Amino acid sequence: MRLLVIEDEERLAASLVRGLSAVGYAVDVAHDGVTGLHLAREHPYGAVLLDIMLPGLNGYQVCARLRAEGNDVPVLMLTAKSGEYDEAEGLDTGADDYLAKPFSYVVLEARLRALLRRGGARTPAVLEAGDLWLDPARRACGRGETVIALTPKEFGVLESLLRRGDEVVSKQDLLDEVWSADFTGDPNIVQVYISAVRRKIDGPFGTETIETVRGGGYRIRESSPS
Ligand code: CA
Repeated sequence: MRLLVIEDEERLAASLVRGLSAVGYAVDVAHDGVTGLHLAREHPYGAVLLDIMLPGLNGYQVCARLRAEGNDVPVLMLTAKSGEYDEAEGLDTGADDYLAKPFSYVVLEARLRALLRRGGARTPAVLEAGDLWLDPARRACGRGETVIALTPKEFGVLESLLRRGDEVVSKQDLLDEVWSADFTGDPNIVQVYISAVRRKIDGPFGTETIETVRGGGYRIRESSPS
């Protein structure tokens, strides 16, 4: 799951990136409203953490423009002091929730999960292919009764594939969805993670859930022939 943080306080932004990355999110950062709006238009983020007082465009303006363009990405507003945030104005501009600084990291993560669950109401809560299941809200995965432990990136790769049903997902799409925009390494990292996921979800079960498609993509097989 990829998030966008739009926050001009660089230390706070950096600590958000560290904390959120540690629990498995890919995180992009913008330090002003114009750059943030641009990124939010370009990438399909799971959620946006949006500061209110920002250079360029303020948080209300960023949110209002996204909504006017039909972008319904979940938005969590971050407000510097109680009273700064006008709840009516926030709701008018289409924010989903807000949090007053300073906030505890635990509370932030809980709000974010709640937001992602609500935002995810359009798709089934638990993603499935045959007896393989993946629950984004609980960050859990398994096959039948057997729970499978995945690293955050492995989880992200499998979640992206399952969300597309039986569509082919290109390596570039997986890079865009699971790795942050500042990733400059070898794109073949995707293959490395696909192999790792296969070893966990298929190897021990004699299944072949992830099909490699000629031309550089992957697809979930609904029925997994062995
Ligand atoms: Ca600010």
